[in-house]
Formats: sequence, structure tokens, C-alpha cells
Amino acid sequence: MKIVNSIIKGEPVIHDEKYKIHNPADTREIVSEYSPATLDDVKYAFDVASEAFGSWSSKTPHERAKILYRAANIVEDGSEDLARLITREMGKTISESKAEVERVSWILRFYASLILRINGYTIPSQFKGGLILTIREPLGVVSVITPWNFPIAIPAWKIVPAIATGNTVVFKPASLAPTIAYRFVEILHRAGLPPGVVNLVIGSGEKIGREMITNKHVEAVSFTGSTNTGLEINRIAGSLDRYVRLQMELGGKNATIVTEDAPLSEAVEIIVKGAFAIAGQACTATSRVLVHIDLYGKLVEALKTRIDSMKVGNGLDPSTDMGPLASMDQKKKVLSYIEIGKNEGAKLVYGGYALESGDYAYGYYVKPTLFIDCEPRHRIFQEEIFGPVLCVTPYSSIDEAIELANSVKYGLTLGIVSRDLSKIMRIAQGAKTGIVRVNRQTVGVEFQAPFGGVKASGNDIYKEQGIEALDFYTRVKTIYMHW
Ligand code: NDP
Repeated sequence: MKIVNSIIKGEPVIHDEKYKIHNPADTREIVSEYSPATLDDVKYAFDVASEAFGSWSSKTPHERAKILYRAANIVEDGSEDLARLITREMGKTISESKAEVERVSWILRFYASLILRINGYTIPSQFKGGLILTIREPLGVVSVITPWNFPIAIPAWKIVPAIATGNTVVFKPASLAPTIAYRFVEILHRAGLPPGVVNLVIGSGEKIGREMITNKHVEAVSFTGSTNTGLEINRIAGSLDRYVRLQMELGGKNATIVTEDAPLSEAVEIIVKGAFAIAGQACTATSRVLVHIDLYGKLVEALKTRIDSMKVGNGLDPSTDMGPLASMDQKKKVLSYIEIGKNEGAKLVYGGYALESGDYAYGYYVKPTLFIDCEPRHRIFQEEIFGPVLCVTPYSSIDEAIELANSVKYGLTLGIVSRDLSKIMRIAQGAKTGIVRVNRQTVGVEFQAPFGGVKASGNDIYKEQGIEALDFYTRVKTIYMHW
């Protein structure tokens, strides 16, 4: 068992109060023990981050890049260990964890190289001997709040561009996954990050969340989590007597549209990967499939057969296809949605229950579940379940498919499986989502491309990841030159 704690100014912060993190695949195993940060700790973390800003922001991009490259090497060298820790802490399969860790080293190198060429541009002046130029400057102290489902990649894709551009950070990870967050901050320090640049505060959103937004040093908040928490943060920030820049990446209810010409086996693979990766606990997970009526019966049968071949189990076993849910709360929520679906009249054709005997006795396992004949009036069609529950709905025309896809409050990702370019383009253009994935599963976006949702999936002001992430973490200054 590992002892973890908040890290402020590079130093551990330890209190008597302790909480344990249990392995969701086998709750008898205690992964770590941590002592939560107090409100005073959080205030101190912001003071420290504010104090560190001057010297960190005045370092050259090359000096900052060196640290990020070193961190990338440390992540790569320890990737096996880090991946095992993710699996033990929140349950995803070991191959999913390895992919997540690999993404972190890519993110570190990507932003290390990007900041060497971070630029503004020049604009001609209307006056002779004049030139206008823009430069990009860091904001100051950034507050980073993250969920547990990508417990190192999401912190990395926020913290790395933040510090690469010269900001300092106070970072609050999800209470369910503080151990891997702690390891990441430790790695940044081992790579040479000066104390105070990234400060980790482990504690519940309920207790310390408000301070993460209202503290006088906060210039910007980058948040990923549920739409309700996002809206709450938006309200709190809106009630301040100053402006705080907000980046909100929230929930999803993503559909994959399958056209009548789609190759059946490819469609099934794409849907299953999208729906059941991380046991469906991804904001980009496929939770609705919209299938042309001509292919409906065949696709449903093929999906049942494919889902039946999936092995559910402890994610550390390399033969496992789907791990447990991350917590008892997650398990209860998923089971309650299954009951809602049945009561609403959607047809349950596969799964629909918890796995609780034998090897499953101590974990939060739910059988992958398939509902068919789902309709927009059903709550399981509309609401984010965040679990291994897939709803299938038939459609008759492309217009109807687009309307069905857009008929939810969320707008993160839309998948299309088709061989027909004109249908693909009609759907892609009609989609009210931030991302469209053609002949790919809805999960698994790439770090070098901009990422973000619309409608209830995000505040849609600043994108995350890609070059676009730098827009959030910097502000433009306009300089008028004259000689
Ligand atoms: P939550 O919104 O419950 O929590 C997210 C983070 O916010 C946690 O660190 C949490 O702390 C913190 N928090 C909770 N309440 C407050 C508050 N009042 N003020 C400030 N911070 C607070 O989401 P989950 O952790 O359950 O994550 C799942 C959600 O995240 C899903 O809706 C999913 O779709 C979304 N998500 C979105 C992604 C995207 O990029 N669009 C990517 C991944 C997930 P604590 O853990 O202590 O409660």
C-alpha cells in the first residue's frame, strides 16, 4: 500500500485524517491511503503558485521544454508500473492503461516542442515606420480539476500545456484516483520542475471545490467532469466580481450511425470498442447506435454474439476485455439505469445484471448490456449512464438518423460507419457535436488534434489538446512599434 498526500511547494502535506483507496476489481486490496487537504492547505497552495509564477514564467521556453522532455522519459521508463497502478486504482484493463500512459509521454513531448515555436504575428501599421505585433503571455495561476476515468491523461493534457506556456498550477484530482495523480506530480518534480509550479491538493470537490474557483489568485479554471458540476462551477465563477477564464469538458451521450451499406463485422467491432472500453466510463463512449432499418436485425444479432464473447474480469489479466466499474456508486447508478430502461419499455436483449459470484464477489462488475428498440422518449436514450449499457434504435432515412443523433442535450462525439461518402458528409455536416469519427470508434481521440464538445458537453469557448490548447493557457498582447 502506498501513502499519498498533497504536495505544496514540492513538500508533502500530511494530516491525521486518512482515507483508503480500494481496488475496484477486488476491494480487499487497498491501493493507497491518503490524507485530504484542508481549506487552509488549498489557500496556501494558491499563494505558493502565485509566488512561483514570476520566476517560472520568466524562464525561457527551452528551459521549460527540457524539464518536460525529462518527464516524458521518466514516464516512459516507468510506464509498466504506472499502467498497473491505473488499473488497480480505477479498474480499466491493462492495455487501456498502457495506452493512457503512452499518451502522457507524447503529450509532454508535443508541448515541449510546440512552445519552442509559440508565436504571435505581425500586422502592418497605417503609419510609416510602424509595425504591429502580437505576443502570447501566460495567464498566471491556473486551477485544474479532473475526473477519475483518464486519471493521468486528463491531468497531463491540462497541466502540461499550462506549465509549458509559463503558468503555475493548483491541481485537484478526483477523490477516486489520487494515487496516480500523486505519481504524476512526483514525476514532474523528479524531472526538475521547481517547487511551487504544480501544487497537488487531494480532497473532495464538496469541501475544497469552491476555493479552487474563488481563490483570489485563480486566473483560469480547466475542468473536466459531469455537466452538473460544470454548470455549478460556471455559476460560481459568474458570481465573482472579476473574470475567470473557464474551460469545461463535460458529459456525453454519443451515437454511432450505421448506414445500410456498412460492412457488418467492421461496424460491430467499432461499436463494441466504443461502447465497452473502460466499461463505458468515457465521456466519448458510444451509448447509442442508430442503424438503418434494413440492417437492424442482422446488426443486433451480430452485436449480441460479439458481446457474448467478451471476457469481463480484473483488468490486470491481459485476456480481460472489460474491467469493473470504478466504484460502488458507479455500479449502483448503472444498475438503476438498467431498471429504468426495462420499465420504460426498451427491450433488454443481453446482460442487464451485476456479476457478483466467484471471482466477481469483491469487485464492481456489471455484465455488458444491450437494449434494442430504444426511443428518444426513453431516459436511457437521453441521459449519460457512464457504464456498459448500449441502446440500439432503427432509422429509415439519413435525415431521421441525423435528427435522432442530435435529439439529446449533449454534443461531444458522433461516430459514422459507412462506405458511402455522400452519406458520411451529410451526417458529418449535420452533426451537432464537437467531434465526428468516421469508421472509427467514438472513444480514442488523439492528443495532437483539438478536442471539445458543444451543447451540454462543454462551454465550447476553448478547445483542449492540439495546438488549440495553447489559446486557453495564454493571452494575446498587442504591441505597436514605431521608429
Ligand atoms: P464529477 O463532476 O463528479 O467530478 C469531476 C471533478 O470535479 C472531481 O475532481 C470532483 O471531485 C470535482 N468536483 C466535484 N464537485 C465539485 C465542485 N462543487 N466544485 C469543484 N469541483 C468539484 O465527475 P466524475 O468524476 O464523476 O467524472 C465523470 C464525468 O466526467 C462524466 O460526466 C464524464 O462524461 C465527464 N468526463 C468528460 C470528459 C470530457 O472531456 N468531455 C472526459 C472525461 C470525463 P471529487 O472527485 O472529490 O468529487
